[in-house]
Amino acid sequence: MSETPAVRNVIVLGTGPAGLTAALYLSRANLSPLVLAGPMAGGQLTTTTEVENFPGFPEGVMGPKLMDDMEKQATKYGAEIVYEKIDRVDFSQRPLRLYAGDTEYRAHAVIIATGASPKLLGIKGEDKYWNHGVHTCAVCDGGFYRKKEVAVVGGGDSAMEEASYLTKLCSKVYVIHRRDELRASKIMADRALANPKLEFLWNSAPVEVLGDTEGQFQKARGIRIKDTRTGATRDIEVSAMFVAIGHTPNTGFLGGVLKTDDAGYLIVNGHQETNIPGVFAAGDVHDTHFRQAITAAGMGCASALEAERYLVREGLSAN
Ligand code: NAP
Repeated sequence: MSETPAVRNVIVLGTGPAGLTAALYLSRANLSPLVLAGPMAGGQLTTTTEVENFPGFPEGVMGPKLMDDMEKQATKYGAEIVYEKIDRVDFSQRPLRLYAGDTEYRAHAVIIATGASPKLLGIKGEDKYWNHGVHTCAVCDGGFYRKKEVAVVGGGDSAMEEASYLTKLCSKVYVIHRRDELRASKIMADRALANPKLEFLWNSAPVEVLGDTEGQFQKARGIRIKDTRTGATRDIEVSAMFVAIGHTPNTGFLGGVLKTDDAGYLIVNGHQETNIPGVFAAGDVHDTHFRQAITAAGMGCASALEAERYLVREGLSAN
């Protein structure tokens, strides 16, 4: 029989701003948190370039550097980070159980800060040309399309950020948006609209990614787009399509044991508590409203303070 795993005070899932801030507060409270990083260590900020709106950095800070420093700060006070992805949980027992394959973890309290992942369009060709012309991260994959024409889909801040970044590498960047007005914040929208290397295709929705097979490789070469008012279709020639249409919360591994809204975002009360005592959530996994690094960090702090109070209240703290 396998050995019974040690019971941790708190396990934090996720190493974005919410998870690492929770880990920092818990470690400074001598609660020796275990942090399970998940499939995307550092979270979404590791795929961005310059972050201009995180307080304390008047000159801006690169997203990966910010996350690296947050990790260093949390581990400095004793947070232990393990690069493992939890695929199911059992919160019906005490201590709480979490599983990564056959490995079991146990904790008195859990903070879920697993964030959200980019959505895809679900159109023909998207799967076929995935990573061969269909992407969701310009910083990660834009370099493959130097001096080429590419397109970004979406009208929010993410799309404007991706598109602006790509103009530094590519000869031309189309922005394909399904309406005639951007959803992006005014400052990001104004900047993008003034960028001469961006061409906006309004009232347009991609319906198919077009491409060729070269030997055993697939390669995108264009997008069929539909006019959302008239239904007319036309093809544009681009080497890549970057999809930036929002995110889906990473809650599937919870197997429905925690209450979510219709889109799958965890529901918490004003104390970051989910419907199961001792289980807290922080950041983009529950926040459909602000979705900023600084608000995620704030929620991470709040969830850690509440988890600490919970352990004391229940007489569970090992300290
Ligand atoms: P978002 O604000 O939800 O925007 C999603 C965009 O994609 C919208 O323009 C939407 O069109 C479009 N869209 C959604 N589903 C689509 C589909 N199936 N087909 C075609 N288009 C579709 O998401 P986001 O841009 O990822 O931003 C999320 C949050 O993060 C926001 O609060 C944003 O301010 C924040 N953020 C901030 C920064 C920054 O400050 N540096 C950077 C990135 C994100 P409609 O407009 O028609 O709905």
